[in-house]
Amino acid sequence: MQIIDLRSDTVTKPCKEMLSAMMNAELGDDVFNEDPTTNELEKYVADLFGKEAALFCPSGTMTNQIAIKVHTQAGDELLCDVNSHIYNYEGGGISFNSGVQAKLITGNEGRLSAELIEPCINGNFDWLSNTSLVCLENTVNRAGGSYYSSHQIKPIYDLCQAQGLKLHLDGARIFNALIESNDSPKQIGQYFDSISVCLSKGLGAPVGSLLLGKKEFIKKARRIRKVFGGGMRQSGILAAAGLFALKNNVQRLKEDHLRAKALEKILLTMPYVDTVLPVYTNIIIFNLKKDKISGLDFEKKLLDEHIRISSFGKQTIRMVTHLNFTEEMLIKTIEILNKII
Ligand SMILES: *Cc1c(COP(=O)(O)O)cnc(C)c1O
Repeated sequence: MQIIDLRSDTVTKPCKEMLSAMMNAELGDDVFNEDPTTNELEKYVADLFGKEAALFCPSGTMTNQIAIKVHTQAGDELLCDVNSHIYNYEGGGISFNSGVQAKLITGNEGRLSAELIEPCINGNFDWLSNTSLVCLENTVNRAGGSYYSSHQIKPIYDLCQAQGLKLHLDGARIFNALIESNDSPKQIGQYFDSISVCLSKGLGAPVGSLLLGKKEFIKKARRIRKVFGGGMRQSGILAAAGLFALKNNVQRLKEDHLRAKALEKILLTMPYVDTVLPVYTNIIIFNLKKDKISGLDFEKKLLDEHIRISSFGKQTIRMVTHLNFTEEMLIKTIEILNKII
């Protein structure tokens, strides 16, 4: 029986062509900087975003945590949205790894602005934590995949420049944002001191994220990656999957967004649905009516129909479209949503 898995865009499996690219990759020891395929991937992504250098890491959590570690000193404060991944889903790593605290800002659908950030920057007093870093997320996972365009980021960049703050982007789903905003990677890249890019989300690679920045920054990041236990040896086998994903799976993200829109449209008409967060990219978050069904029961009922989704709090459901969610599966999912209760 075919399972339709809408829990996350991380559930994708490598296709035959990707596997064959992996099997044919030229390999070396990347801790010695001698893996040609990893070097090629790092150069490819750095060039794409107009950055000087890149570092291939096992996960997006690691690229974010390395960036925070390099940009800050213990006792500093960083500013991020209340729903951000770095704060909610990285195991308390901001404090654990860097001894840094976070000041949380309630953004507009997860997006911050210069107006929201400016009053949160601490002045220079001995008794205040030193604000040193601003972190944005694009797209915003917990806010239903909303995204920033480059013209929304420019004023934040200007503020950070004026105040001497570093600006980091958690771009786990940056290509989903770029497909919708029509910005080029370089238009976004110019505004950040560092960027995390995930290969294992919508792009469909099995493992891997890149951290981008200036040469000096990546030199420090490489050292921290080793300390965090993320130095890999023949990583070209994974980098080859990443190169394949970047060259073949970016434009098709539009299909995921259209399928997510189709699900939004149908959910808005369902009698058991209370509200649906506006769908901008590939993430659908909706609330179930309390008197109709609970999140857990809804999850169970769908599982009986071989559809997997994740409940995100008592009445809240998240579905994410991806590379392995086909048109045929969309039709089947709509059919089931129509008859489930
Ligand atoms: C998935 C994700 C990450 C990184 O997750 P890993 O599973 O560690 O690769 C970072 N930020 C956001 C917004 C994400 O959705």
